[in-house]
Amino acid sequence: MRPCEDAVTLRPDATVECVECGLPMTPVAESAETVTVECANRHRVVTALPDDRATRALIDNWIAKKGAQLHVQHERWEREEDEE
Ligand SMILES: [Zn+2]
Repeated sequence: MRPCEDAVTLRPDATVECVECGLPMTPVAESAETVTVECANRHRVVTALPDDRATRALIDNWIAKKGAQLHVQHERWEREEDEE
């Protein structure tokens, strides 16, 4: 049986187990109605944004953390370019 990717349900901590590789998927982006979750292997699933505020707050936290990580990585790349 194939899992239905469009019907993933967020766990209480707002993560999902990746159906393709089993790694945890964390929220990376959201819109008014959907949230996009991504695992370390960059598998992505878009699912409906949950109604409850607690989960939405967790989603916002995940997205903020992800943004901070990308920022750090970007600075590292800039430093590596400077060294050449
Ligand atoms: Zn995956």
